[in-house]
Amino acid sequence: MQEIRNFINGEFVAAADGRWFEKRSPVDNSVIARIAEAGRAEVDAAVRAAHAAQKGVWGGLTTEQRVDLLYGVADEITRRFEDFVAAEMADTGQPNHVQRHVFIPRGAANFKVFADVIKNVPAESFQMATPDGRGALNYAIRVPKGVIGVISPWNAPFLLMTWKVGPALACGNAVVVKPSEETPLTTTLLGEVMNKVGIPAGVFNVINGFGPNSAGEFLTQHPLVDAITFTGETRTGTTIMKAAAEGMRDVSFELGGKNAGIVFADCDFNAAVDGIFRSVFLNTGQVCLGTERVYVERTIFEQFVAALKAKAESVNYGRPEDHASTYGPLISAEHKQKVLSYYAKAKAEGANIVTGGGVPTMPADLQDGHWVQPTIWTGLPETATVVREEIFGPCCHISPFDSEDEVINKANATDYGLSTTIWTTNLARAHRVAARIEVGITWINCWFLRDLRTAFGGSKQSGIGREGGVHSLEFYTETRNICVKL
Ligand code: NAD
Repeated sequence: MQEIRNFINGEFVAAADGRWFEKRSPVDNSVIARIAEAGRAEVDAAVRAAHAAQKGVWGGLTTEQRVDLLYGVADEITRRFEDFVAAEMADTGQPNHVQRHVFIPRGAANFKVFADVIKNVPAESFQMATPDGRGALNYAIRVPKGVIGVISPWNAPFLLMTWKVGPALACGNAVVVKPSEETPLTTTLLGEVMNKVGIPAGVFNVINGFGPNSAGEFLTQHPLVDAITFTGETRTGTTIMKAAAEGMRDVSFELGGKNAGIVFADCDFNAAVDGIFRSVFLNTGQVCLGTERVYVERTIFEQFVAALKAKAESVNYGRPEDHASTYGPLISAEHKQKVLSYYAKAKAEGANIVTGGGVPTMPADLQDGHWVQPTIWTGLPETATVVREEIFGPCCHISPFDSEDEVINKANATDYGLSTTIWTTNLARAHRVAARIEVGITWINCWFLRDLRTAFGGSKQSGIGREGGVHSLEFYTETRNICVKL
């Protein structure tokens, strides 16, 4: 069985108190790895190593030298592409094609894109008048924040972790990463990559463990952590924000969502069905940007529900390495119970179950995996539990609407504000509606298209701050102004 250790100051180390926990396969619940759980001592060692590396060798490199090393990281990930695909499949159980074409390539891109961004940062300067007529010149320099604590979730582990580590390192920070306890494999592999390409020891560290009273909490409490970037549940974000208040540490949060998909009758019908299908069921619905509330204009409602049902019933359950598989399990037994509890609530609150709503019959070797059926409901009011709360599973509720104002009000009637997808061929309407939806990102006639140079983040309880392109610099650097009397 694989043993996963913490990665501290360039070395793979077990916990001093000998604590390990098990990682189980989502596909069949077999134990696939044992993981060294970092205690306070390991977290302290990792943060101190990061602090020393940042103040020392890493902070002393030129931008060009750092950029070259980060290009090397991206190239080495690409060279070990199959290892990363295999590790992510083992951790998440999600199909080969998703890892191969979306998640792992994005992980490599996260290092190249932010290396390019940092090379091309525009400089700011102002000439000002002074009473003696000689004037003064102000110019700004950007400096790294120091040690960044990176806490990441399990749903797209490598993509979401590197999306933080790439810009943090490009800006000259050192990082201590706490991957989700459910998905430590690719973060550990990245440690091997860092050593191979010559990233100095201590610049990238990994501590494994859980949240409360474990590695996650110890990291957020450490006084030498200068800022925390977190992706995960809104409730966890609240706890981390309280910890970050001690010592006035900055936070960047990417949190939960309850995203709406809006389909107008004038849409390209097949494209809308395909797009909404992907946005509901990709990664078994475990995508923060996924759609759980679908609003369809009444005149095409029945036709749309029937088409989405047909697609939901045509998924291929299977092991991730089986290339015919299009649909994987949920991440864990605990998450399966949570999703099934929502399936039960929908039924109890009177939903019309269009398809799914339970557990599929699986072959004997997959029976213990965390499988649930793709599920579609109709007929519930906006106040129903599954229409209000984030489920993070392969399910959606579909409601009819009659007017633009009605659907905008319904889409906005949530505490979350992450993303929306709008389907219409009327471009004026598309822009009009998009501007009124209270979210960080709106897609028109598409979904999940991400240019890494654009701002990404959530409104309301879906997050704090924006990352992506130059927006990431706002979080991973501090601007200092220097005023020179001429
Ligand atoms: P989670 O909040 O349970 O855990 C995320 C990470 O935080 C894990 O590494 C966990 O160990 C750690 N953690 C938990 N409690 C902690 C604590 N008290 N202190 C420090 N660390 C702690 O989230 P999850 O279940 O792993 O991920 C699913 C959630 O993430 C969903 O709500 C989803 O919407 C959200 N998400 C958001 C985005 C986005 O970009 N907005 C992207 C992906 C996932």
